[in-house]
Amino acid sequence: MTSQREPGFRESVDLMFQRAIRHLDLPPGLEHKIRICNSTYAVRFGVRLRGKIETFTGYRAIHSEHLEPVKGGIRYSTAVNANEVEALAALMTYKCALVEVPFGGAKGGLHIDPRDWETSELEHITRRFAYELIKRDLINPSQNVPAPDVGTGEREMAWIADQYQRLNTTDINARACVTGKPLNSGGIAGRVEATGRGIQYALRSFFRHPEDAALAGLDGTLDGKRVVVQGLGNVGFHAAKFLQEEDGAVITAVIERDGAIIDENGLEIEDLRRHIVETGSVRGFGNSTFVSDGAEVLAHDCDILIPAALEGAINIENADRIRAPLIIEAANGPVTFPADEILRRNGKIIVPDAYANAGGVTVSYFEWVKNLGHIRFGRLQRRQEESRYELLINELESNFGRELSDEFKQKYTYGAGELELVRSGLDDTMRGAYESMRDVWHGWNDVDDLRTAAYIVSIQRVAASYEAAGL
Ligand code: GLU
Repeated sequence: MTSQREPGFRESVDLMFQRAIRHLDLPPGLEHKIRICNSTYAVRFGVRLRGKIETFTGYRAIHSEHLEPVKGGIRYSTAVNANEVEALAALMTYKCALVEVPFGGAKGGLHIDPRDWETSELEHITRRFAYELIKRDLINPSQNVPAPDVGTGEREMAWIADQYQRLNTTDINARACVTGKPLNSGGIAGRVEATGRGIQYALRSFFRHPEDAALAGLDGTLDGKRVVVQGLGNVGFHAAKFLQEEDGAVITAVIERDGAIIDENGLEIEDLRRHIVETGSVRGFGNSTFVSDGAEVLAHDCDILIPAALEGAINIENADRIRAPLIIEAANGPVTFPADEILRRNGKIIVPDAYANAGGVTVSYFEWVKNLGHIRFGRLQRRQEESRYELLINELESNFGRELSDEFKQKYTYGAGELELVRSGLDDTMRGAYESMRDVWHGWNDVDDLRTAAYIVSIQRVAASYEAAGL
């Protein structure tokens, strides 16, 4: 426990930024220009629902326009306020810069509990909110491109895209006004799983360096590692599922809204998700033990802790009790600034949000490019690739007089479709960004954590872009 005060979310992000700035020598005033949020719009609008006019408040914060469009999700939650969207917009700037996605940072939010409304009502509200943003160019394929976030998904993005198209009937690039759309509305294969997939690729990158794993007191691969996940929403679910099914990790506890469950033998994530959908709770799943004070389970003994819910989950109150040696931030801002200091003091390794959850915006970038290109990735070359591989195999077989195995032939000749290309692009992005962070982490004097390293890489890139443009 510490006597330090818990800062607000925006302040927490700024403190992390300032900790990194000390290592850099920026021209006077540039630090301030990068740190501040350029603009924050609040829109209030009325929608006639259930016989009366309901007034809603929504936000779109634009943190940095050093590159455009600016990018970042829209969340639906009753915790949404200007401070939160500004903090999240700032994180988007650093995230995009770190993974070399050529966008500025933005974020939006609507103060609403989506569970209070029927689907048709939510559509009505979403279209009205989108209209307010579109008419101010706060949604626009070349200027400001939202995406899903907490409380929104493909469905809301399809409504937003359609609303934009109705208001811009002659814009051939209208579909690029928002990402995270369903496939049949101009989406891209692999976007729904992208953030969870990115967590998997980030952890693989970490364990590819035994020296890094050793700093967390870990060794080997992800196989057999005990993992605790907080939040089984889109990100937490996909991360846990892939780590379990493809890397042999054991998900020993899941923390949800209504409590947590623990099973040291491992929880079957697909089955658990089904159980939650059917019963509305994690309680009563298989042989697991239910803990009603779910937050306590953040301190459960494990190898890897994945906070995949909301900001501030690990804070001044509970940071000292966290036992996991490795924490990977699937959510945005799950560790507050003072908590980060406590965890570092306790020797914990934190894979920071700006890197860890960048898979979503990376695949959003691919979707935006696909929309502007008006063609599915792989459509032109896939079969051509396949026929060249077949040619080679036939030649080898006739020359050596021996048949290659069907399994090898099938795998080798399989031409990459959109999903394979998206995964390959995401994997490459996550590996590259890890190396750039790592170079600073291990190569710079006095930089002893990945978060500061991530900020340094990002700030340098944003600064270079401002300097090149000549403010
Ligand atoms: N909301 C996601 C994030 O926080 C995705 C943003 C995007 O795809 O633009 O990164």
